[in-house]
Amino acid sequence: MSVSELAKSIVESPTLRLNEEARLLRERGEPVIHLGIGEPKNKTPISAILSSAAKLNQGDVKYCPTDGTPSLKKAIVRYTEEHYDKVVAPENIIVSAGAKQAIFNVLYTLVNPDDEVLILAPYWVSYPEMVKMVYGRPVIVTPEDGSFQPRMADIERAVSSSTKAIIINSPNNPSGTVFSEAFIASIIDFCERKKIYVIMDDIYHKLVFDGVVAPPAYRFTTKDLEDSRVIVINGIAKLYGMTGFRIGWTVAPRKLVETMTNIQAQTTSCSSPVMQAGAEGALLGLQSFVESLRLTIQNNRDIVMRELSSFTGVKTRKPQGTFYCLPDFRAYNGNSVDLAKFLLKKALVVTVPGKEFGMEGHLRLSFAGTVKDAMEGIARIKWALDPNSPNDIYIGDKRLIRDWL
Ligand code: PMP
Repeated sequence: MSVSELAKSIVESPTLRLNEEARLLRERGEPVIHLGIGEPKNKTPISAILSSAAKLNQGDVKYCPTDGTPSLKKAIVRYTEEHYDKVVAPENIIVSAGAKQAIFNVLYTLVNPDDEVLILAPYWVSYPEMVKMVYGRPVIVTPEDGSFQPRMADIERAVSSSTKAIIINSPNNPSGTVFSEAFIASIIDFCERKKIYVIMDDIYHKLVFDGVVAPPAYRFTTKDLEDSRVIVINGIAKLYGMTGFRIGWTVAPRKLVETMTNIQAQTTSCSSPVMQAGAEGALLGLQSFVESLRLTIQNNRDIVMRELSSFTGVKTRKPQGTFYCLPDFRAYNGNSVDLAKFLLKKALVVTVPGKEFGMEGHLRLSFAGTVKDAMEGIARIKWALDPNSPNDIYIGDKRLIRDWL
């Protein structure tokens, strides 16, 4: 087989691989607990189902405009005004097959070969690979040890004459951190002065806890949208638990949207109008749905924090958003890939190694699932790692004795 050098350099998505491993183990009847999941458990909102079904019932599912159906774009205009206090035109919006495709298309539109894109660790696993896929160079900026808040000084040091863009994801996957208002204000000011694009991946922007608000970039730009360097990515996957609908979007200056539309026209033509109708249903339906999801997840977060605090060696920062936390397990094992493999083998718990997010020694744990799974999963991890915990445990109907500590 002869595949391209570029294709060879792209690594498998570790999170999707773990989903597959967990599925196979479950199929074999193993009582696996999946703390690696990246989607809420809830059913699709009824308004989304009805809206998709109505489109399907018409029996007229054809190509639609590449940049999105006019009615979904109208709903996104309204969403942007309501949640960002920003008035945008339909021409500032392009709908894609998930936020993932939206980010890829933005990068494809902006990045010349060898242009640099700054990525803040801990980062979502796909960013560096996507930058490589457009022949750009990912430049990772790491925060000081023990913090997940990026520092302007580190970013300024990493900027070069080849820096084209920076990707900001707050609330952050995998740490759950919401970046401070001061940071967002400074980064927007700095990038607009330096003419660096700021790609705001806002996919979790409403999944925030304890009254915290993720500061929207638009609040800090002094420029008109058409001259601004701010690009906002959003979608329905996380806020509405509609990951399988594969609908996301970009809000950007018209010129960028035009180019992105050309790219999308040549690759996917459009995303499915049935799924776009579903997204529209979600955006226009009862928003108490998002609030109840947020409260459920906040409650899960509290339980996970309580359970993790009972470990002697784990250091955890309380997430202010998303459904992930990124505890520091270095006291047990500095190699997160080995640790995650060990936990899967001994305790049948799926976790995601921090190394995949540029944060070695940590594990990403998701609390998007049930409280029962989160509690049992953490109890199993504790049993496997913490010598202060009892040395026997029931996993499924088997009593296991720990004989390695
Ligand atoms: N950005 C981040 C930070 C994510 O965590 C995800 C999904 N895991 C995405 C983008 C992609 O979202 P979508 O499912 O809409 O493609």
